[in-house]
Amino acid sequence: MNQFNDHQENKSLISLEKYKPIADDTAGVFSADHRYRKEATRLQECASNVRIHLNPSQEPTNTTWYCKHRHCPICQNRFSARWRVRLQWILRTMRAEGYKPHWLFLTLTVRNCPVTELRSQIQAMNKAFSRLTDRHALRHVHGSVRFLEVDQGQDDPETAHPHFHCLLLVAPTMRGGKDYLSRDRWAQLWKESLQVHYTPEVDVQRLNPEGQSVDEEVLRRLSYSTKPRVTIPEPAWFLEMVEQLHHTQRAIVTGQLKHWTERFKAANQDWHINELNVDPESDPHKRYRWDPDQGSYVEMSS
Ligand SMILES: [Zn+2]
Repeated sequence: MNQFNDHQENKSLISLEKYKPIADDTAGVFSADHRYRKEATRLQECASNVRIHLNPSQEPTNTTWYCKHRHCPICQNRFSARWRVRLQWILRTMRAEGYKPHWLFLTLTVRNCPVTELRSQIQAMNKAFSRLTDRHALRHVHGSVRFLEVDQGQDDPETAHPHFHCLLLVAPTMRGGKDYLSRDRWAQLWKESLQVHYTPEVDVQRLNPEGQSVDEEVLRRLSYSTKPRVTIPEPAWFLEMVEQLHHTQRAIVTGQLKHWTERFKAANQDWHINELNVDPESDPHKRYRWDPDQGSYVEMSS
């Protein structure tokens, strides 16, 4: 058996190797609670056997079984990669059709809440977001995609810190003209939308770097907003968070961006073709098996 090190040109196997140990640790957290045994097995089996296809006419590609669990770091990374493909297509098509998009990157937070109240807090944030975008001051926000992220509270480990990372498609006047809103104004509007008595932390960035590609900036913010979890939080907090996030959405698209994501879907029904455009049996391939003790993939003899 050979180590995978001979074949590091295959980026996807390298990224699997990065997230697989965290998936194993997460499976360990699930397996300690009898209600989550199934989840533990799913995560353990995620990408545990991988075939690297070495067809000379295309880039090396892999096939494996993904568990698609929301809290699996491998599948979170895949969620991020798929969003990147979607947004790259949208940005490219916008340019090709002469549309010059303008973007803001907005982070909306609330005060930390007990992790046991996470679901109702997220529901309140979703309602507040609708109220926010209905405001007259935001009439030039043409569309948005927002990603929910939840961290453990830093001061009190029994709390959670839910927040939204939002990419906003806006009119140019909002980026620097008469409809520009300062960070304080955004915070005030978010406060009113949340209907709370404190001023929440808000951050807003204009994506118009000089001499750099705006599209690259948008994709960078997307990667940041969808980054996989790379640490294992305290088990009791983690399992409660998992329970609370059930039936909540990771990503919500509104306005014109909804139209663009639907166009993407219609134009790219076979967009995962690279994964499927291989004959698993007859194409030349190498097989790897995850070895949790070594923390690496090990080539299997055919
Ligand atoms: Zn997975």
